[in-house]
Parts: sequence; structure tokens; C-alpha cells
Amino acid sequence: MENLRAKILTCTRCPLCKTRNKSIFGEGNLKAEIFLVGEAPGADEDRDGRPFIGKSGQLLDKILGACGFSRESHVFISNIVRCRPPNNRVPSATEVQTCLPYLLKQIELINPQIVITLGATSLKKLLGDETCKIKNHRGRWINWNHRLLMPTYHPAALLRNPNLKEATWQDFKKVISKYRQLIDPNHFSQHF
Ligand code: SF4
Repeated sequence: MENLRAKILTCTRCPLCKTRNKSIFGEGNLKAEIFLVGEAPGADEDRDGRPFIGKSGQLLDKILGACGFSRESHVFISNIVRCRPPNNRVPSATEVQTCLPYLLKQIELINPQIVITLGATSLKKLLGDETCKIKNHRGRWINWNHRLLMPTYHPAALLRNPNLKEATWQDFKKVISKYRQLIDPNHFSQHF
């Protein structure tokens, strides 16, 4: 894992290295049973070198807290690409293709039972299917690489459209139930 960290932090394999400030390894428990995958770092993340620390990240932490999960204990958080695309554009197919092996290796090493994709981009890229639509897939478990994958909305989408919050909470409730079933029957959430 330290080898992988060093590779990511110094990577120059795609053009995003030219405009980034910091590339982002990810954050959380290296033995987590839940692995969250977002799209790409934004300005705050690029500045500090940590994933999901802006407004979206604060909302994600609130959702995780409501589930009884924390970054320190239960999850690992990362992105499809590790460097910020200029103006927060969606990463190109080539950038994704170049960076994705880091994510797949990280998932293999951490070996979580549950993967949560946040938003359409991470779902499409992990499934390798550009046609899938988040609204059709969210809330339904998918068997992916011998793991269970739960697609849900990206927290940034919830900030833009608060009407999506209820559906997202329903998705995370399914994750809590699965976590109790597979990992810890005594897992406590104040809200579910
Ligand atoms: S986005 Fe990924 S592949 Fe591209 S430079 Fe950053 S770490 Fe390397």
C-alpha cells in the first residue's frame, strides 16, 4: 500500500498532473469493509491533498455519521481519478483509463465487502458501461468483482437538488442493513 501511495502522489501518467496541486491517495481505514468511490478531486481537495473535504465532503461525513460510520473506522474514500480536472470538468476517457488501475489495486489491497459509488461517473467507470443511468441503478445491489456494489447519488448532486436526499438516505439504509448482515450485527446507528 505504501508503494501504491508513493506512486499516486508522484504520478505523471496523464495530463492532469500538469494542472494539479496535489494528487490524492484517499483516506480512511486501510482495513475498511466499505469503500466509497467518487469522481475526482475538487479545488479544496486539490489544495489539501485529502478527498471529500469541501461542502460535498461535509455532507458525506454527515451521512456517514447518521449511518454510524466514520472515516477513521468504517470506510475508505477515494476517487476514479486522483488529480483535479481543470474547472472540475468530468475526467476524459483517457484520464480515467490511465488512473483507474490505481483504484482497482487499492480496492484489491483493502479488500472491502461493500463498494459504494457516488454519482454517475464512478458507477459507469467501475461497471465499464457508459450507458448506465444513476437513477435506474441507485439503491440496487450489484455483484461486482466478488463484492457488493451500491450505487447512490454524489453528495454534490444533493447540494444542487435536495429532493435527492431522501432517496440517498434509503440507499445508505440498505448499506447499514448489509453491514449488520455481513460484518457487524451489533452495528449502531442513531437513525436506523
Ligand atoms: S489523474 Fe491519475 S493517472 Fe493522471 S496524473 Fe493524476 S494520479 Fe496519475
